[in-house]
Amino acid sequence: MKYMRIETRILYPDPDGIATAAALLRAGQLVAFPTETVYGLGGDALNPAAVAAIFAAKDRPADDPLIVHLADAADLPRVTASVPLVAQDLAAAFWPGPLTLVLERGPAVPLAVTAGGPTVAVRVPAHPVARALIAAAGTPVAAPSANRFGHTSPTTAAHVLADLGGRIAAVIDGGPTPIGVESTVLDLTRPTPTVLRPGGVSVEELEAHLGEVALESRAVAAEPLRSPGLQERHYAPHSPLWLVIGPEAAARAWLRERAAAERAAGRRVGLLVPDEDAAALADLDADIEPLGPAEDLDGMARRLYAALRALDSRRPDCILARDPGERGLARAIRDRLTRAAAGRVVVLAGPI
Ligand code: AMP
Ligand code: MG
Repeated sequence: MKYMRIETRILYPDPDGIATAAALLRAGQLVAFPTETVYGLGGDALNPAAVAAIFAAKDRPADDPLIVHLADAADLPRVTASVPLVAQDLAAAFWPGPLTLVLERGPAVPLAVTAGGPTVAVRVPAHPVARALIAAAGTPVAAPSANRFGHTSPTTAAHVLADLGGRIAAVIDGGPTPIGVESTVLDLTRPTPTVLRPGGVSVEELEAHLGEVALESRAVAAEPLRSPGLQERHYAPHSPLWLVIGPEAAARAWLRERAAAERAAGRRVGLLVPDEDAAALADLDADIEPLGPAEDLDGMARRLYAALRALDSRRPDCILARDPGERGLARAIRDRLTRAAAGRVVVLAGPI
């Protein structure tokens, strides 16, 4: 299906804007809205035409399933075949919030939402605008990130318009999103709860709650991913991005050497690095996009996509980035940078 070119309205997150957006959703139209993670592209999850329109607007392949957003955990039985105890526990502990649970699909959910599969991904977002919108719409809302397939996820309404302007009915401008990376996806249909995608809820938090948690993502960052919708082409900037993983001093030395070599060859270099690296490498002739202090993982996650978009829009010949480690939110940042690097990952010896 091809999308129709339409005018995209910008709505504000006041009662009028929410009511207008909810009416559009009920009419089968698409509305982008802020969540605490990134902006979502919402459509009525129980309306097959709206679901098809989401895939068309994003140019998203049909084998990449959508996350269904609910206003409240009490609505789970509307979209899942059953609600196991562990799901009730996790919902009580982490919802509303950036945790997506994969459960058995309920019969009301169109197969297109789940890419034909027997499971459905569900979460209750914490952002007040998202919650008000979903409650007002009165229906579960399917909402993948509001970017074109393969692009960086949007953390502002301007990012949404850059990718989807003219393709969707409206966007609610609720300002920049507070977390900045997508939700953690946890599969509860396997014998051991399995993290399919690291995100806003850390693996450590889940382990504290569940005991054992399996990790589906790469043990070594350079290994390719296999699960649906987790392809390397996600989050790809136009400029090739190199990610260096290793002890801080060695990684910084690698950035310096590589940047100097690129410059010597007449190429323009972009650096996507914490403030400490930005200061240490300030003498290089490079376009530096600082992510904030390395210790402030929340801030780095919040700024990551906007910084990547900004740097990429200036079209350096390459982008060099440093891995933040894997503690807490760093694991999600590492995951997104690894995908943006699409295999261009350099692992240096030594503890990180
Ligand atoms: P997005 O909403 O754009 O962040 O993408 C949603 C992602 O959630 C997909 O790309 C999948 O990786 C994951 N996902 C959604 N539904 C399922 C499911 N039923 N099983 C496993 N992963 C899922
Ligand atoms: Mg996405």
